[in-house]
Amino acid sequence: MSLLQPACPCGTGATYDACCGRLHRGAAQAETAEELMRSRYAAYAVGDVDHVFRTWHPRTRPDDLSPDPALRWTALEVLDATETEVEFVAHFERDGEVGRRHERSRFERRGGRWVYVDGDTSS
Ligand SMILES: [Zn+2]
Repeated sequence: MSLLQPACPCGTGATYDACCGRLHRGAAQAETAEELMRSRYAAYAVGDVDHVFRTWHPRTRPDDLSPDPALRWTALEVLDATETEVEFVAHFERDGEVGRRHERSRFERRGGRWVYVDGDTSS
């Protein structure tokens, strides 16, 4: 990894540019549900609301996706991934408190592209 380029927030060890940055720019499409999930986490981490919006199934997408300015995503752990589901823990800090979001997300291919459908959360 180049020392001049930031690491991707999704934690693969690749640079942001070579990892989820490609998907955020539209230079590449996610090939798997896990890749899309990572890119959505990274989009939350870097504040790319457009990418979160674009990759959300229109049927389940909320109208308002404005980010919470007090929330900072700090790390991602992918626990399990199948063809259409990804279970992960996303760590965050909010007003000096640390928290985690544990979710099993469901994804679907729509028009040849992976989109997020919904998920079950637990703590
Ligand atoms: Zn990434």
